[in-house]
Amino acid sequence: MMTMKVPELFGSMVFNDEVMKERLPKDIYKALHKTMDEGLHLQLDLANVVAAAMKDWAVEKGATHYTHWFQPMTGVTAEKHDSFISPEPGGKVIMEFSGKELVKGEPDASSFPSGGLRATFEARGYTAWDPTAYAFIKDDTLCIPTAFCSYSGEALDKKTPLLRSMQALDKQAMRVLRLFGNEDVKRVNTTVGPEQEYFLIDEKMYEKRPDLIYTGRTLFGAKPPKGQELEDHYFGTINPRVSAYMKDLDEELWKLGVYAKTKHNEVAPAQHELAPVFTTTNIATDHNQLTMEMMKTVAKRHGMTCLLHEKPFEGINGSGKHNNWSISTDTGVNLLEPGATPSQNAQFLLFMTAVIKAVDDYQELLRVSVASAGNDHRLGANEAPPAIISIFLGDEMTEVLESIEKGLDYHDKEKTLMSIGAIVLPHIPKDTTDRNRTSPFAFTGNKFEFRSLGSAASISGPNVVLNTIVAESLRQFADELEGVEDFDQALTELLRREIKAHKRIIFNGNGYGEEWIEEAKRRGLSNLSSTVDALPVFVSKKSVDLFTANGVYTESEMMARYDILLENYYKTLNIEALTMISMVKNDIMGAACSYQRSLAETISAKKAALTSISSETEEAMLVKASDLTSALASSLKKLEEDVEKESVYADVYDLAKYNRDVIFEDMGKLREVVDELETLVPGRIWPYPTYGEILYSVR
Ligand code: ADP
Ligand code: MG
Repeated sequence: MMTMKVPELFGSMVFNDEVMKERLPKDIYKALHKTMDEGLHLQLDLANVVAAAMKDWAVEKGATHYTHWFQPMTGVTAEKHDSFISPEPGGKVIMEFSGKELVKGEPDASSFPSGGLRATFEARGYTAWDPTAYAFIKDDTLCIPTAFCSYSGEALDKKTPLLRSMQALDKQAMRVLRLFGNEDVKRVNTTVGPEQEYFLIDEKMYEKRPDLIYTGRTLFGAKPPKGQELEDHYFGTINPRVSAYMKDLDEELWKLGVYAKTKHNEVAPAQHELAPVFTTTNIATDHNQLTMEMMKTVAKRHGMTCLLHEKPFEGINGSGKHNNWSISTDTGVNLLEPGATPSQNAQFLLFMTAVIKAVDDYQELLRVSVASAGNDHRLGANEAPPAIISIFLGDEMTEVLESIEKGLDYHDKEKTLMSIGAIVLPHIPKDTTDRNRTSPFAFTGNKFEFRSLGSAASISGPNVVLNTIVAESLRQFADELEGVEDFDQALTELLRREIKAHKRIIFNGNGYGEEWIEEAKRRGLSNLSSTVDALPVFVSKKSVDLFTANGVYTESEMMARYDILLENYYKTLNIEALTMISMVKNDIMGAACSYQRSLAETISAKKAALTSISSETEEAMLVKASDLTSALASSLKKLEEDVEKESVYADVYDLAKYNRDVIFEDMGKLREVVDELETLVPGRIWPYPTYGEILYSVR
């Protein structure tokens, strides 16, 4: 057997620091580094040298094209490939790539959603290299990670606001660190490790399901005889076909420098998970996009289809993403890790309190950041966290905060009694085995795990919100603490006050229980159950103030995003409705009719053969089938008529709300009838593979 050399494979398709160091003249390498580290603009003469080196490297690796790889607001990544060739006299070509081409691109991107930010007369936006993210080769193409903006400078993508939010947090966190006398740190970054869930099914099943093809989820499907009741899939043995897929996927991701680390089966049959080692938020975001893309590409190679939808199968756990998030210094200190010395602990407590305050102050914004039509099927459905945002801290951490609030000194095992400025924290286990899986936002020892994210969406949005709201808390703390005479005293007062003010957001109990909904209401926590309920929060005055003050979004960028999110929501529901209609008309109605015909034929054949035997059973079956077919026809008609009525709404919010209130309900009713029919109609007549067949298709 050939052994794979992972260290050699890892990053082999990435123009990373090592390659740059090796291939760039020393002074150029240094200058580029300065640009990267300090977030400066890249000078053209510098860019020319970098571009040439990048091109030579890429051509040696077999690349023929380059593309500015960016993340428009659609949620997927976009690329437009140009070849390196440049004509030479005599009909020859050379491979060329200039600094200008590296730094800036002009995709004719008029059909990317812009929410009205680009009037059509200036439909072109431009893309600009983000030098903090390495270029890489994918599919013989040199991909240059870029930001995408309009000519007037408005962000048209998911990367620009993310970079701005990281800057905002850096700025405020640095102020706080200086207060603790920290002078050596130059940059504070947020880090993310997103755990990605997905389903793998056989391609043959996928191809027979128009709903999966058009909408990514099954719009019909009766419960299989065996679902996830036995929980025998979770962490179970990985079957050889899936195992081969996972190996292949790891290799592809490693080549691209993605730190794919753990993989295992999830709760539902056919469901799996991949977790990477964490890295800085913007890289983690790029890498998660690449991971999702590779999951699909590699599945095809193995005759399978990877489903990333949040809820591909009703009644079976859906897929999410756990966004493990923390704050780190460039000197390698995790600011959410309780420190070894008392003063580090005081600093830790301030950062911890900043997160608690942020999550409480902006709980609704966090909820909005994970809102989508797909995720509406999960949140609050006893398999994913509730739509109510709360924080799980665990008993130890909660006790520490309680004692600070009450002004008592915390007793750790050695019974040390000290003031905040000299507090000794208990050892907080990194991974308490009984950690609460029902909490949307859990402290897991040295990071927070935001668990409400849907599996299909980019992680950019939730991290923009997290970075910005924590930056805002830190800004307020720094404003208050800078220049005080007695720092220890001021810090103690601040912590006490803030813990008292925000402790309602801490909840260590069962987030799935009915009692929590009541309790949360008493605490005044928000419970925005659907995307349509949640989205208006994004453009509330409070949100606009937050994002504009921290330089993350302009107001017009926010309005544009709001429009795009609403549009995306109603378009998703509209496509689902139209797909349902066509499936019923083209296939399901026909199956219902042939089933009735075969019953009718059986009844008359029996009667003709022998008048003395009863056909009572078949008659009852026929009556039932006939009734269901009538119900099918009327539910179909209702949905069709209601879809028609959409045209009276001009406003995007009204359209989204109408889809939620009317179309969504209609689809549910139609589905109920179809699913019941499926249980009656024999498999050979039923036009689609059943849940059982799909979920157990990879063997
Ligand atoms: P496990 O749950 O297996 O014990 P961890 O809790 O260490 O693993 O990590 C789960 C996920 O959290 C991984 O993707 C990991 O990379 C990520 N993670 C760990 N530490 C951090 C951190 N400081 N910042 C962001 N993500 C982190
Ligand atoms: Mg997790």
